[in-house]
Amino acid sequence: MPVSDYLVTIGLEVHCQIKTETKMFCSCKAGFGYEPNTNVCPTCLGMPGALPVLNQYAIERTILTGMMLGCSTPPVSKWDRKNYFYADMPKNYQTSQLDLPLCIGGEVPLYAWAYPADCKVNADGPVVRTVKLDHIHLEEDAAKLTHYNGYSLVDYNRGGTPLMEIVSAPDLTSPEETYAYLKSLQQMMICAGISDADMEKGQMRCDVNVSLRPKGQKELGAKIEMKNINSMSAARRALIYEIHRQAEELDMGIAQVQSTRRWDDTLGESIVMRTKENAHDYRYHTCPDLIPVHTAPLVEKVKNELPELPDALHARLQSEYGLPVADANTLVGDFKLCRYFEEAAAGSKAPRKVANWVINNLTSVLAEKELTIASCPLAPKALAGLVDIIEEGLVSNNQAREVLDVMWNAPAMNAADAAASLGFKKTDTNALDAVVAQVLEENPDMVAIVKGGNMKLINALTGKVMKVSNPKPNPKMVTEIILARLGL
Ligand code: ZN
Ligand code: MN
Repeated sequence: MPVSDYLVTIGLEVHCQIKTETKMFCSCKAGFGYEPNTNVCPTCLGMPGALPVLNQYAIERTILTGMMLGCSTPPVSKWDRKNYFYADMPKNYQTSQLDLPLCIGGEVPLYAWAYPADCKVNADGPVVRTVKLDHIHLEEDAAKLTHYNGYSLVDYNRGGTPLMEIVSAPDLTSPEETYAYLKSLQQMMICAGISDADMEKGQMRCDVNVSLRPKGQKELGAKIEMKNINSMSAARRALIYEIHRQAEELDMGIAQVQSTRRWDDTLGESIVMRTKENAHDYRYHTCPDLIPVHTAPLVEKVKNELPELPDALHARLQSEYGLPVADANTLVGDFKLCRYFEEAAAGSKAPRKVANWVINNLTSVLAEKELTIASCPLAPKALAGLVDIIEEGLVSNNQAREVLDVMWNAPAMNAADAAASLGFKKTDTNALDAVVAQVLEENPDMVAIVKGGNMKLINALTGKVMKVSNPKPNPKMVTEIILARLGL
């Protein structure tokens, strides 16, 4: 039977690195990009006798995440050991949380703008629907293994860094929703400053599980899990593949077995790794080295830290700056660009135009020069100044691009000075009017054609005026004067 006759049930476990100074159970530096195995100590290397100390900030960020997502926090939360033997975990157990995690329940909103670009969504508001969460727990990350031909290297810098695991209920129904779930969650984490959630850097990773059952059947089908998927589009591709694979096998009468498969994004297929893995395989037990956390004072503390969430930001970009929805979508999707825009727009008379310049011109120059907004030499206020001189009629949009180039290489220069250095000066309208009169007189044929209704030659006339003018006037103004003189 067709795939559409099966009910698809998807659940997600998202691991998200919390942005902290130090690791979860020791004072080693947390963070990305250090020389391998330099941020380590007896505790995070699992030396016998070394004892853990809790990172309160990481606990607070997890509770804050729960608050943002409408979870409840139990009065007491405890720590458990998840035992397994592998080179990425020198203690041979991961300190995690099993039955009393920091956050329980809650839901993730699916934002309308978070769906894949090729996917049509009908929504009245910013939130299409919410997806139920099971819980959020806090644990430590494992070390990073890199596999080579015949050997592997391990970097313990990542070992012991705070990692939040956001576990959904089996409440998603399609690969597109899964994509939107990941994107919405990522935007919330970035907005709140809890995580940079860069999937390329492994700061956010997801395990997806999916099962199929024929319509009408109550109990869920066998759950197939794919681990460590590292992009939203890969999650979508993996699910599309897996749903079709399972449907085909079910059609042939092949029963599915609970198992873990590896998604190979390059090959575009999933390969079975192991079958049946249950919680008891990990011999979970309460960690004797860590006392439970009494959460009430922490809950009280983070209540005051609730950030503006993406849907509120999306609404405010439209109401406060008059931005069109498409611009709000872009800015909510790129938080650093959004912050740059807000700094530039503060006090600007033309915030819409500022947004336009940030989203279109600035990003294209950054891309051209292989820079990111974080390393942009042009200060937000300088860009706002550039938009100001366009608004004042000192330069045209095209001239402003040249001015931008000058400012790029001389970031201390203001827009008016940069424009002056290119010979763009405030137009003396009387002088310009005289030049226009002369050019029209010298080109009676062209004037006749324009007067006859062929407006194409207007640009040619404007060009002629531009050519003989010094300093260079704003071409828009030239065109206006020509039209006025011709009575058009
Ligand atoms: Zn350490
Ligand atoms: Mn985990």
